[in-house]
Amino acid sequence: MTPLPGRCACGAIRFVISLTDPDAQARTSICHCHACKRFTGGEHAVTTRVPRSAFAFTRGAEHVRVHEADMGSRSDGDRGEEGEGQAGGGRKSALHREFCGVCGGPLLEYGPNAGDNIYVFYGTLEDHARGQVEPRGEFFCRLRDPWMPEIEGLFQKQEINE
Ligand SMILES: [Zn+2]
Ligand SMILES: [Zn+2]
Repeated sequence: MTPLPGRCACGAIRFVISLTDPDAQARTSICHCHACKRFTGGEHAVTTRVPRSAFAFTRGAEHVRVHEADMGSRSDGDRGEEGEGQAGGGRKSALHREFCGVCGGPLLEYGPNAGDNIYVFYGTLEDHARGQVEPRGEFFCRLRDPWMPEIEGLFQKQEINE
């Protein structure tokens, strides 16, 4: 079992992701969509998809706050969920986000079609844990800012599925 520990920006909340095979069970990706820009305050979000059952809070769970965002249709790219099988264009859907009520730092998110997976914000993982789940690809590349280069060696998708 490989433990991948992480924490929020202030450290009030700590968690661990326990995987038997990080290569097979985790996938980190970069998303350039509008929702990811706004939530992170950056050009993109970096999240690591893991099975929900592998994630556990180890400290400060009482500080976790939840935000349910109505992300509207998929066509405007204004959503943070980069999971597969996001069929049903135009359908309203909610994106669930968890963050720290003490420091406001992001922890994880998942959309209605994430299935049994959650998307943990990559930067919350400790250094050695990030090194075990480095990014595989980029989503919503059509919304990449002009100054942001394509990352060599990763797959690039214009939206989610194409
Ligand atoms: Zn915090
Ligand atoms: Zn996104």
